[in-house]
This record gives sequence, structure tokens and C-alpha cells, in this order.
Amino acid sequence: MRIGLLGGTFDPIHLAHLRIAEEVREELALSEVWFIPAGVPPHKRAEPHLPFEERLRLVELAVKDHPAFRALDLEGRRPGPSYTVDTLKELRQRHPQHEFFFILGLDAFLEIETWYQYPRIPELARLVVVSRGEFPLEKARIRARELFPEKEILFLSVTRLDISSTDIRRRLKAGLSVRYLVPEPVFEALKNFRVIIENDAPGRD
Ligand code: NAP
Repeated sequence: MRIGLLGGTFDPIHLAHLRIAEEVREELALSEVWFIPAGVPPHKRAEPHLPFEERLRLVELAVKDHPAFRALDLEGRRPGPSYTVDTLKELRQRHPQHEFFFILGLDAFLEIETWYQYPRIPELARLVVVSRGEFPLEKARIRARELFPEKEILFLSVTRLDISSTDIRRRLKAGLSVRYLVPEPVFEALKNFRVIIENDAPGRD
């Protein structure tokens, strides 16, 4: 099967994440998309605001009605930073029959050189870079050729949805509604979480 992998801090998951997965699934004729919340995101200076179990639970709620979407807990079960290369190795070992496509946003792709063992990543899964906002396609393609001259990286333009987890946390902190920014079951669940979102660092995720 052709499997899309969407890794993320998902702090919390929102509709733009789901829309990326749906558009890439259709465009690349993927059988399934697996969502992989990071246990300990290697690139964040501070810990995520929501603990892993809550981020995972919200991802499970977000994907439960889509027959081709699944939530994986493997990064939460591994100690230490959740390096993508380790996740891909584990998945390749467990499912040698599948072809994997690792989906990531443009911002993440432009920083991939800082990732642990980054040259190994496109050997383990096909990289699919999706647009975010204005898409400097040429710039990204040039970067891809410099970094991975032997590999074919896919670039897909997806519907622009300016939703971010940072903005959602800001709204929650201010007691504002996040309805229609997140799937309905996530909205309902967030009401019951003791979400302590203080000292939020600036930045967009
Ligand atoms: P995130 O903020 O939860 O977002 C998940 C993905 O959705 C990102 O690729 C992000 O792209 C994209 N996205 C979010 N909102 C979007 C919007 N409104 N429109 C379009 N795209 C949107 O996840 P993250 O913290 O960036 O992490 C992404 C993955 O990279 C995770 O699996 C993480 O573990 C991995 N990573 C690994 C390493 C390592 O192995 N050393 C280092 C860094 C990251 P943008 O990038 O454009 O925001």
C-alpha cells in the first residue's frame, strides 16, 4: 500500500492538518495517511503545551471518522527526542511491504538540514512538501536539488488555510472559541481538558 505519514507536534491538531492529509491522499492516490504526534519534538526549545497523551487523544478524535486516516502512538513510546529518521526506520522495519510518503510543510522542509541524520530521510520515505501561504516553489526546488541531488522530492500546492496551533492556544488561553478551527470532536474534548497554556512562546506552528 502507498501510505502517507504526517508527523507533527499537533499542539493541538487543527483543520489545516487534516486538509493537507486529505489533499495529498487524493493527489497521490494514497491508501491511507497515518498521523504521528511527536513524543518529544526535537526542534522545540520548550516542551509542547499539551502532554503527549492529550495530543494523541485529540489526533485520534480528529481522524476517527475518516476510513483512511489513522493515529500512531509510536513516537510517544520511544524515550528521548522523536527523530523522524528513527520513526521511518521503525515503520520500514514493521511494514516492509508498504511504500511510505513523508508529508511536511514548507517551513519544516526548509529547515530539514538541521534534522538528525537528515540525508537518510529521503532514503526511507518519499518526501512530499506541501505549500504554506505563498509558495516559493522555485526556491524550494533549488534547495531540494542542493540537499538531495539524487532524490525526487514532490511539491504539492494545497488549499491555503491560515490556521495555526499557536493561534488556537492563544484563543483557548483567552477563553475564546476555537470552533470551526478544529474538528468538532476536538472542540468538544478541549472543553474538558485542563488546558494550561501559559507562558506560550511566540512563533507559529
Ligand atoms: P506541526 O506544527 O504540528 O505541523 C505539522 C505539519 O503541518 C508541519 O509540516 C506544518 O508545516 C504543517 N502545517 C501546520 N499548519 C499548517 C497550515 N495552516 N498550512 C499548511 N501547513 C501547515 O508540526 P512540526 O512541529 O512542524 O513538526 C513536523 C514534523 O517534523 C514532526 O514529525 C517532527 O517530529 C518533524 N521534525 C523532525 C526533526 C528531527 O528529526 N530532527 C526536526 C524537526 C521536525 P510548516 O512546517 O510549514 O509549519
